[in-house]
Amino acid sequence: MILIRYKRGHQIGYGLVERHRVYALEGDPFGTWSTGAEIGALADVELLAPCAPTKIVCIGRNFPAHAQEHNAPVPTEPLIFLKPPSAVIGPEQPIILPPQSQQVEHEAELAVVIGRRCRHVPEETALEAVLGYTCGNDVTARDLQRTDGQWSRAKGFDTFCPLGPWIIAPFDPTDVAITCRVNGRMRQFGLTRDMVFPIPRLIAYISAVMTLEPGDVILTGTPSGVGPLRPGDICEVEVEGIGVLRNPVAAP
Ligand code: ZN
Repeated sequence: MILIRYKRGHQIGYGLVERHRVYALEGDPFGTWSTGAEIGALADVELLAPCAPTKIVCIGRNFPAHAQEHNAPVPTEPLIFLKPPSAVIGPEQPIILPPQSQQVEHEAELAVVIGRRCRHVPEETALEAVLGYTCGNDVTARDLQRTDGQWSRAKGFDTFCPLGPWIIAPFDPTDVAITCRVNGRMRQFGLTRDMVFPIPRLIAYISAVMTLEPGDVILTGTPSGVGPLRPGDICEVEVEGIGVLRNPVAAP
């Protein structure tokens, strides 16, 4: 299944992609649904972020090589923080560099999309709570992350959470490549098998703290190679087997 949220004219909805054509999703993507009428070619619809999360739960330092590049210890249990839903943008929408920061950086990540309301999920059955997977960019004002001491401002600006281009399911996330390119040049590369904490552990850990809702997103941590974004850049996050999330970068 390739699940999108799309806009065509004034129409916004969930859709399914088959052979580069978009079909309306009839029903609830988190419940029962069926394939509806053909909407048109994939190239003719505007892709929105593929879900509308009530919260985005992020994992810090889940790749040892990324912790090392910031001289930070590898955590002994998951380090979680939140991004606000107001930060979410879709594919091709610009990441806006805020005037408060001189050092905004990309963080390419695998994004887990939750499929049902859940809490206290056991690790053994945690993947049953997943709707599917997409690409995410945990855009970060690195200078403010350092000076603030906690990360809400550095991670929370509008446009700092690109998601997309679509949700893939079923999908095995245990050993896939995560790549970030800026203007076509590779900046980040990592393999999900190198995550300190695998996805079932993250879902169990987070859901023991807060109820997860359908459409909520877990950003599972970034590999090494994070670097600055400048006005005019094109930032691409690719997760092998899912697709490419592409966003231009703009001054305010
Ligand atoms: Zn991150």
